[in-house]
Amino acid sequence: MTDVVFNHATVRNRADMLQFLDLCAERGLGTVSIWGNEIEKVGEARALEALRAHGMRVSGYNRIGPFTPEGLGKARAELERAARFGADHVFLFTGGLAKGERDLPRARDRAEAAIAGLLPMTLDLGLKLAIEPLHPMLVGDRTVIASLGHANDICERLGEGVGVVIDVHHLWWDEHLEAEIARAGKAGRILGFHVNDWLIPTRHLLTDRGMMGDGVIDLAGIEGVVRRAGFAGPIEVEIFSEDWWQRDPAEVMDISLDRCKAIFGRDRAA
Ligand code: ZN
Repeated sequence: MTDVVFNHATVRNRADMLQFLDLCAERGLGTVSIWGNEIEKVGEARALEALRAHGMRVSGYNRIGPFTPEGLGKARAELERAARFGADHVFLFTGGLAKGERDLPRARDRAEAAIAGLLPMTLDLGLKLAIEPLHPMLVGDRTVIASLGHANDICERLGEGVGVVIDVHHLWWDEHLEAEIARAGKAGRILGFHVNDWLIPTRHLLTDRGMMGDGVIDLAGIEGVVRRAGFAGPIEVEIFSEDWWQRDPAEVMDISLDRCKAIFGRDRAA
């Protein structure tokens, strides 16, 4: 099994999807996490052909959303494309409050109802929906789901076909993190584990994530919690960073793999 997966977003500014797949293959990585808009840039036929030529699997597919009428209108097409690429799970990007809206509970109900509405189609296609709670500072404009506890509650209410992704950048601050990871693990709903780091200072909420080891998150500690909760899947490197986007993609990936090896204790390149 491949132990490290790269999210294409980590190197997207200087490597298109085909280059990204080549870079992963050169490093012996057999699984990738991909984006619909990046597939469109190179063309679906070429992207699929390259994926097959490398014999690669897809873990995460980004993404459905935001949950506006327009975003939800594309949900079926996104799910069908995710299925064509053999994705394990499809990320949900709920979006924040509607324009002028101040009723957060109502926005949360609406997001949950939308997820429920996506479930039958998701199950028909043999996919899973991934709720990735984001950092609370992003509630206004990016997502109304900002804690693992909330994501677990939603999963519990909706049942089969929906799980959670644990991204350290978004969740490291949470005093209930260990308990909520254990809860998610017990229900078998941990779909992914995303790593990066929290820099001090963080200059931008979306584009200033750190390389693993450059910030203040206890990455090995959180990984231990996730493993004890029963998650046996890969570690996904996902760094949205203006700094790292400017570097050579091969170098970024090599540094990431070295850091994963140093922090998580063993060589994770399959
Ligand atoms: Zn993530």
